[in-house]
Amino acid sequence: MPTIISHAAVPLALGLAAGTRWVPPRLLWTGIALSMLPDLDVTGFHMGVPYGSTLGHRGVSHSLLAAGLAGGLLAGFTGREGFRQYLGHLLFLFIAMASHGLLDMLTTGGKGVELLWPWSAHRFFAPWQVIRVSPLKLSLLLGERGLAVARSELLWIWLPAGIVSLLGILLRRFVCHSYSPRNITQTPSP
Ligand SMILES: [Zn+2]
Repeated sequence: MPTIISHAAVPLALGLAAGTRWVPPRLLWTGIALSMLPDLDVTGFHMGVPYGSTLGHRGVSHSLLAAGLAGGLLAGFTGREGFRQYLGHLLFLFIAMASHGLLDMLTTGGKGVELLWPWSAHRFFAPWQVIRVSPLKLSLLLGERGLAVARSELLWIWLPAGIVSLLGILLRRFVCHSYSPRNITQTPSP
């Protein structure tokens, strides 16, 4: 996995890009929590759950179905102003949580992600593994290995996330703002 904090980059970037009108703070914080939630499955190691089992690390909690179910459930609390808002919140929360498994698929270690559970028990990796895998033990993150992981995550996660945020902010500021009804010059009536 990337470090747990770096999973927050995806909802954070989308939230900053879209703005608080579309992604209000409560939705954003819920998305950030969901982006980190799948790695709770590491507690299974302490209970004797094997890594390679469906209930193990990168198993069911990293699947698209789990992201859809969690998003559908929590959107009921964040988006209560009609069905359209509910669907918008569901989509944001789904992307936030599903992005966790997709980022894990880009890492250089581990067992792959059971993305399509329950339809397939295959553990998927992306064609390119570019993100240095973060060790599960926090103590191993100290020192040279931790620096290599941090450099890799800055390059492959936080830099693209920053670019997406900036583009969204600029688009809202200079394009959408120009087409705002308040900014269209009214022709004076005769
Ligand atoms: Zn993970």
